Amino acid sequence: MTISENVVIAPYTTFKIGGPARFFCIVTNDDELVEAVTFAKEKAVRFIVLGGGSNVLFSDDGFNGLIIKNEMMGKTFTDDGTLYSVVDANAGEDWDEFVALTVEKDLFGIENLSSIPGKVGAAPVQNIGAYGAEVGKVVASVRVLDTETMKFVELSFVDCKFSYRDSIFKHEKGRYIVTKVRFRLCKQGEVNIGYKDLAHFFADRKIAKPSLKEVRNAIIEIRKNKLPDWKVWGTAGSFFKNPIVTAEVFAELQKKYPELPGYPESDGRIKVSLGWILDKVCDAKGLTLGNVSTYEKQALVLVAKPGATATEVINFSNELMKRVREKTGLIIEGEVEWAVV
Ligand SMILES: Cc1cc2nc3c(=O)[nH]c(=O)nc-3n(C[C@H](O)[C@H](O)[C@H](O)COP(=O)(O)OP(=O)(O)OC[C@H]3O[C@@H](n4cnc5c(N)ncnc54)[C@H](O)[C@@H]3O)c2cc1C
Repeated sequence: MTISENVVIAPYTTFKIGGPARFFCIVTNDDELVEAVTFAKEKAVRFIVLGGGSNVLFSDDGFNGLIIKNEMMGKTFTDDGTLYSVVDANAGEDWDEFVALTVEKDLFGIENLSSIPGKVGAAPVQNIGAYGAEVGKVVASVRVLDTETMKFVELSFVDCKFSYRDSIFKHEKGRYIVTKVRFRLCKQGEVNIGYKDLAHFFADRKIAKPSLKEVRNAIIEIRKNKLPDWKVWGTAGSFFKNPIVTAEVFAELQKKYPELPGYPESDGRIKVSLGWILDKVCDAKGLTLGNVSTYEKQALVLVAKPGATATEVINFSNELMKRVREKTGLIIEGEVEWAVV
């Protein structure tokens, strides 16, 4: 394994932004991963693991530490004789290619997460979700390198503490490096097409019981029409999380904005549509400041023109946060990770 110096990070991220990393390496197996972390410890520099770079924004000044790009490949499918298949995928596998394979094998559970950029290893980190599904629901366990003890351990589903775009990996930042994810996928499940856009898609086509493949294709098509192409634009998808508020706060907001969409959570709180607030309340759909805009079809998604800087993106996001706070009193949080120098 080679550890390079002064490697520009921008091409390794979908925002296409970020100055040089002091150190950079690609790891493909456990030994290389241990070697990389040991190097960072010996040099007394911080390290950060990168998958597809689709949920990060690096500083224009770069990263004064080691970037470990995870390219551990491999996946296995085991039929354990129950209703479920146990599927192991290594962290460096491409997420969407992995989803495609599970659909091909008629396994239910992650089809609604089709077309999300990135790698398998990052999926449990922010508990990726879309179209009424969350990856945490089908993760059985996650194999990690615990960088405090330098031992490889298996974290159970419970250990992972999954919640909305959240998990233990975000709280114990940097401690665990995901090497493999074990999924439990159902052999005879049912597709979940309850989410509004999906339900409309199939109602329009008069398809009552779509197949797994049809659901995947529908999601690919819906997303293509709704989200910017990250191969063309600088973006990390939704820049902010939808805020989750108490029923009382939601009722107050609805007095002011009767059409504000809200979705009940299992604990009685309400997840509020931030895209709607940005669009209808803050007049921010398509808003442009310099090289950064909200996407014309979805205000929660920021897009950066070639040449945009991290400073511009952060200034723009501060402006959106300010508008939301002034109009609604809500303090919004980033979904994208802002890596510090
Ligand atoms: C156009 C677009 C659409 C998107 N749509 C969605 C969506 O619908 N739903 C959704 O949830 N997300 C969405 N995202 C965000 C993003 O794709 C996901 O968060 C994805 O899981 C990030 O994967 P990655 O490999 O690119 O992670 P990276 O951006 O490389 O890393 C993200 C974070 O995970 C950490 N990390 C990465 N790999 C590991 C590892 N092996 N071990 C420990 N930590 C690790 C990194 O240090 C960083 O903190 C979208 C992004 C884009 C650009």
